[in-house]
Amino acid sequence: MRIVITGGAGFLGSHICERLHSEGNIIFCLDNFCTGRKKNIQHLLDKDYFYLIEHDICNPIPSNSLFGKIDQIYNLASPASPPAYGSIPIETFETNILGSINCLEFALKQNATVLFTSSSEVYGEALVHPQPESYWGNVNSVGPRSCYDLSKKAGETLYYDYNRIYGVKTKIVRLFNSFGTNMRPDDGRVVSNFILQSIKNEPITLYGDGSQTRSFCFVDDTINGLIKMINSDPSFIGPVNIGNPNEITINELAQTVIKLTNSKSEIEYRPLPQDDPTRRCPDILLAKEKLGWEPKVSLEDGLIKTIEYFRDTL
Ligand code: UDP
Repeated sequence: MRIVITGGAGFLGSHICERLHSEGNIIFCLDNFCTGRKKNIQHLLDKDYFYLIEHDICNPIPSNSLFGKIDQIYNLASPASPPAYGSIPIETFETNILGSINCLEFALKQNATVLFTSSSEVYGEALVHPQPESYWGNVNSVGPRSCYDLSKKAGETLYYDYNRIYGVKTKIVRLFNSFGTNMRPDDGRVVSNFILQSIKNEPITLYGDGSQTRSFCFVDDTINGLIKMINSDPSFIGPVNIGNPNEITINELAQTVIKLTNSKSEIEYRPLPQDDPTRRCPDILLAKEKLGWEPKVSLEDGLIKTIEYFRDTL
């Protein structure tokens, strides 16, 4: 197949490029390197059937002769860590809205299937737990996370309506926290921060009292979920939750990372950022039923691989 991956040099995008290229597909990796890194796809650059195109999806995607007839589009382009999108909120909003429209218009011309990576952030400060897809969420429209939460939410509407009005084959995935190799060391997410701080025996920056929860899915499982979703029956457009239902407190995560790195680091408490969700855990019944998907990698096994990666990068 001929496959476009927007945000292809990012954390998740680079894993999808690698995996689908190794399976014999022709890959077009689009990235503007806003948060993505050439380093993540360096090893693919001189391979046949892998094309890197520097492009900001806020501009229309040209249907040029290089692309030929595209079969599938993964739209993963967007800053995704709270410090990253918080520092460029308007660009983030544009990427999820204008970028989505451009991906959808491209899919319409190409008669391709297009997958949108929405987010568990659409549930906001959830009042239902764990969160099923049927829950509409509780999101603040005027806060530091709003640019991401609401552009992902409105993005879903675009994918829904391009399907309803124009018959575009769309797929909507709500990704919960994911982690693994190819994460930026400086993107400020909790897993990368804690691992780097532990390896260096520096203080662990724990926001709030650490009782807030998250559910962390290893990247291999996340990628499997995305691939299963784009190849699922066209009548199923989602949204579908992809995440690991193993819910832990951020305190527990800190202790696990300290143990696995054999670190001397101590916890340093910092203020909880505004609108930081208290509890987050996916209900994955729909993914199990419709995609036959569930995560396989345990938190500890995933962390061991990620720790190894960060040790190497240091
Ligand atoms: N967090 C923390 N220390 C850090 C980074 C994050 O305690 O150095 C907390 C953050 O407040 C949140 C959780 O860890 O409660 C997950 O944060 P992350 O930025 O990874 O993703 P989020 O799920 O908030 O989008």
